[in-house]
Amino acid sequence: MTASSRDRDQLARCAMCADMCKYSCPTYLASGRETLSPQKMARLILYDEKGFLEEEEGFLDLMFQSAMCGACSRHCIYDDYDLREFMHEARVKAFNKGIIPEDVRQRLETFRKFGNPHGEREVKDHGAGELGYFIACSSYKDEALLDATERVLSQSGLEIRRFGGGEICCGAPLYYAGDMEGFRRVAASMKGEIETRGLRRLIIDCPTCLKMMTGIYPEVEQGLDVELLHTTQFLADILKQGALRFAPGGGPVTFHDPCILAFDLGITGPPREIITTLGYDVREPVYSSEHTHCCGAAYGAKIGDHRLKDAVTSMRTGELLETGADTFVTGCPTCKSALTGINMKYITEMVAERISARR
Ligand code: SF4
Ligand code: SF4
Repeated sequence: MTASSRDRDQLARCAMCADMCKYSCPTYLASGRETLSPQKMARLILYDEKGFLEEEEGFLDLMFQSAMCGACSRHCIYDDYDLREFMHEARVKAFNKGIIPEDVRQRLETFRKFGNPHGEREVKDHGAGELGYFIACSSYKDEALLDATERVLSQSGLEIRRFGGGEICCGAPLYYAGDMEGFRRVAASMKGEIETRGLRRLIIDCPTCLKMMTGIYPEVEQGLDVELLHTTQFLADILKQGALRFAPGGGPVTFHDPCILAFDLGITGPPREIITTLGYDVREPVYSSEHTHCCGAAYGAKIGDHRLKDAVTSMRTGELLETGADTFVTGCPTCKSALTGINMKYITEMVAERISARR
């Protein structure tokens, strides 16, 4: 991602801004550290560009402490300005200089060894047709989610090609680590996996995979000629069409909006449609929909410091508990794995439970 000179002028304005967006920034809110606020991050990037920083290592390390969630961009006083572009450029610089946090380095080593961020795993590939379901790395390790997905896909009556595992990956871990050459290579390989199977539409659980394929692949000349759907969009559609028979549930359910799903992809309506169609009441946390807060993401995924990640996760857990609901669902497998303290489920699991209850 290369920022234009117009964006660079914007960076200077950001560095001088009143910084009110910091009250939406999860890393600032959870840590109370002024240095992590968006305006201070912008100021340091500007100082670095002007050569004012005596020691660059600490600065580059700081660039890995953003959750890259996009709340600052969503709540920015300027349209079309995204501070993450500059933080990502700094990560690329850090990677090229070999100065990356230990957590991120370990994740990269696993990726180099196995072609995915979670270690050894077999390729899964079954089913047929032009509609695909990509088993994202974060879904692959979640047996409850895979079982639920299988039940829902089977009952939909549609022909669906399921695939994932092995070295089939969207490349996001490399992108967030700043390894753009590696990312471009993995994106090209993912594009090949989709084209080889002749898919026209592809369902994906993970908002980050979706963001990579829709927004970032074209930047590395790997744009896809396939309709990409988030799982919540697919589920809301098939429920509307009456393709699934289920026993209605009841009671309050809180949906945690994943930051990338809400801020980058603008998908907030379909999950709520699913919950109400299944007979539940949506109980909103104070920070929800396009004003959501990040879950902190998985260890070493975006935030390169596990203590900061834990602080963000704990803050978000508290906000969700305040709703008083006893059922919590989300639309991101990584959010599910981060928010373990409240028995978070992926929304497909709730759909599968209602299908099973019918029998
Ligand atoms: S991201 Fe926008 S609102 Fe936040 S400090 Fe920068 S310019 Fe100001
Ligand atoms: S991307 Fe998120 S964590 Fe990073 S500065 Fe912006 S609001 Fe804060």
